[in-house]
This record gives sequence, C-alpha cells and structure tokens, in this order.
Amino acid sequence: MIVPVQTSLDIPAATSVVVIGGGIVGLTAALNLAERGIPVAVLEKGHLAGEQSSRNLGWVRKTGRHISDLPLSVESDRLWAGMPERVGADVGYRKAGIMYVARTKAEMEKHENWIGSAGGRALDSRLLGAGEIDRLVPGGAERWFGGIHTPSDGRAEPTLASGAIAAAAIAKGAVIVENCAVRSLVMSAGRVTGVMTERGEIRCEHVLLAGGIWSRRFLGNHGAALPTLPLVASVFRTAAMEGPTEMAVGAADFSFRKRADGGYTITQRGALFAPLMLDHLLIGHRYLPVLKAEWKNVRLSFGRDFLRDLSMPRRWQGGARSPMEQLRMMDPPVNHGLNAEALRNLCKAWPVFNKAEIKQSWAGMIDVTPDSNPVISPVAKLPGLTLASGFSGHGFGTGPAAGQLAADLITGSTPIVDPSPYRLDRL
Ligand SMILES: Cc1cc2nc3c(=O)[nH]c(=O)nc-3n(C[C@H](O)[C@H](O)[C@H](O)COP(=O)(O)OP(=O)(O)OC[C@H]3O[C@@H](n4cnc5c(N)ncnc54)[C@H](O)[C@@H]3O)c2cc1C
Repeated sequence: MIVPVQTSLDIPAATSVVVIGGGIVGLTAALNLAERGIPVAVLEKGHLAGEQSSRNLGWVRKTGRHISDLPLSVESDRLWAGMPERVGADVGYRKAGIMYVARTKAEMEKHENWIGSAGGRALDSRLLGAGEIDRLVPGGAERWFGGIHTPSDGRAEPTLASGAIAAAAIAKGAVIVENCAVRSLVMSAGRVTGVMTERGEIRCEHVLLAGGIWSRRFLGNHGAALPTLPLVASVFRTAAMEGPTEMAVGAADFSFRKRADGGYTITQRGALFAPLMLDHLLIGHRYLPVLKAEWKNVRLSFGRDFLRDLSMPRRWQGGARSPMEQLRMMDPPVNHGLNAEALRNLCKAWPVFNKAEIKQSWAGMIDVTPDSNPVISPVAKLPGLTLASGFSGHGFGTGPAAGQLAADLITGSTPIVDPSPYRLDRL
C-alpha cells in the first residue's frame, strides 16, 4: 500500500542497533540513528508499514491528547514540518487544523475539561460555538452544541510518509530488510547481544522492539510483560471530490479528513471493534476504567479471531519458526456495516458527502495499553533492549518524535522530551 522502497535482500552479520518492525516508529528511529552515523538494520516480517502505519487516518493531532503526551506531539509537529526537506520527498503534511464537534453538553464538557487541563502549554486550541462551526465548515445540516478547534494540528499521508522515511534512512546508511521476521533475542552474560531471524543470527549491541501489536507476544516469549489489547478500526476513502473543508473533523460517530489525492478518509469514530482473544481474559480487567467510560463505543465479537490467536504459540524456542511468520501481515476484515454507518452519519451532518464515491475500504488492528499512552522505554529485565510500542491508536502523529526518543534512549543522548510518562514499569 505504500510507495515501494528498494530494500536489501541480505541481512548483515553484525550491526550496532537492530530495529524490529518497519512501521513509522521503527523507521523514524532508524533514520535518526543513521543520521547520527550509527550502523542500524531494520527487520520487517512483511512489507514496510504493512500494518498500522499505512492503515491509519493520517491525523497529526494534539487536540484531546493525554496531557503527559502533549510535549511529544508538539515536538512531532515540528519534525513533521521539517520532514519534506529532511527526507527529500512530500509526506503529505499539511497544517490544516483539526476540529471536533459536540452534539451534547456532556460531549462539550470533555473538550472544556481538556482545554482547561492543557492550559498554559501555549496551544492554539479554542472552544467554538455553533455559529463558528458553520462558518469554518460550511454546508452543515446539523445543529451542534459546540466544538473545539486547533489550527496548528494537521495531517500527513500514511502511504507516503513511511516509504519516504525508509528511503531517506537507507540513503543515510541504514539497512532495511523485508520479509524477515525476528524470532527471538540472543542473550549472552545477561544482556542482549543479537537477534535470531528467520534467515540467521545478527550480532548487535542494542535492539529496538517497535513491533506494534506483536510486541506483547514477542516480549512474552522472553518472560517480560507488556499489556496491550487489540482493537480493530474500519476505514474507507472516497474518490476526489469537492468537500466542505481542508481541516480534519471528528464527531462522536464519524470523522473525515481531506487526502492529498483530493478524496476523503472516513471512519465511524464512535465504534471500535474488539475481537475477543485470550488476552482479553488474561489482562482485560486492567482496562475496566476505560471500558466503563467508553463501553458504548466498543463492539465485542467472539469467533474466528479467538481461534486464530489460540493457534499461534505464546512460547517458542529461540531458533524455531515464530508466530510472526505464521501471519506476515495483520489484515483484519473490514466491518462494512460500521463504514456504512459512518457515511450515513456524515451525510446527515454535511450533505455534500451524499456525492461521495467509495474507492477503497480497509481495517487495521491497534495496540492499546491500559492508560492509552505508549511505552518508549528500556526493558529492565532484558538489558540492551528498548521498547517503543502500544501507541493506542495515535502513534502516527507522534511517530517522528517517538522514533527520535527511542534513538535518544539507545544512544544515551539528551532525550527530545522527558521520557518518564512512557516508562514500561508504570504499567
Ligand atoms: C485504522 C487506524 C487509524 C488510525 N488513525 C490514526 C491517526 O489518525 N493518527 C495517529 O496518530 N495514529 C493513528 N493510528 C495509530 C497509528 O497508525 C499507530 O499508532 C502507528 O502507526 C504505530 O506505528 P508502529 O510503528 O508502532 O506500529 P506498526 O505500524 O504496526 O508497525 C509494526 C511493524 O512491526 C512488524 N513486526 C512485528 N513483529 C515483528 C518481528 N518479530 N519481526 C519483524 N517484524 C515485526 C510488523 O509487521 C509491523 O509492520 C491509527 C491506527 C489504525 C489501525
């Protein structure tokens, strides 16, 4: 799905840092390391950005973020703005703004509370009345209670960004290999000294695990715990069309954003699909506070995913075939019912979307932590391993800064932001 990149066919025998996972986080970490002259190899079990990093909505957002995650998103905005020059390609970044609209007083209170707690951080977010919403996004047919608007938020193109970042990392000396799963870590004298891949061993000093939804299983095989649960979101895009605005807009039951190809990317924002798996039974209780607040938005299903998940081992020998080879690319089925719901709700709000022609639908599986913040942290139990995973559905926007923070932790440089909100031991 992303712009193709000329990657390597062979793995190196040794390098300084091995990055497991060629999503936006692993790739930006690799770009950072390569820019610092550090030998780095990225190993991707399938295709670059084949999972979350090409399937996301492309929102680059500060609005509504956890307050402790704001410094990372502010830094990421800066990095996105400089990305075209840095990688020598357009990544579709536009500072076009993000707006959330509220139908009810209760929804509006959430925005008011967030703006109150974010106050003093020099953000340009502000609350809106119904009249301002009509002025900013004309042609609406719903009467909104109010909204929130952050002009400095924006968007980037998932299908352009990861490829461009990978190509730039390669140009700076990174080795990137696709179709090469890492089966396990190689340990010696109590620390990581390499990785065992499906094509043999690579010796290294540090490993960065940026494996998205797979990081939990990979770590579990080494006796380390990372609580993440999977959620599935379905998305579709339209053909190029005249729409009401350049900014991205989210309501309780739909969201839309303009694409670089002139179409719109749309989803049912208020409905996440939770395919029940063994992990829900094992760690689901840790999510009860979030579930209590969001239960109306989560739709549970039980069936094929449960059995498929059970068929994949949780423990395997270092050199043995791993679950990551059993499923090269997580490509969950699209929930067309939810997509249809999103379009119906959107058409009621902005009738111009009655003209939308659906060009493509897809789904993506998101790795969610109990507090919805990622982990970007050394793993104390496995010296030499750094983890960057659990981005909980908002790691594309912060990807560039998250990758840099991971590179800072590995090299012992001054971190781009205070890393303490992202410690593994908080979970
Ligand atoms: C539908 C959807 C909408 C979203 N919308 C937004 C949005 O608008 N804004 C936003 O900020 N975020 C959004 N997100 C979240 C965002 O896409 C993710 O947080 C981000 O892409 C995570 O990047 P990553 O590199 O951590 O993981 P991924 O992109 O999932 O990459 C991990 C990679 O690791 C590989 N891998 C795993 N284990 C191994 C192994 N052992 N060996 C080799 N390779 C391995 C996988 O194949 C995968 O390619 C959305 C996500 C989805 C699914």
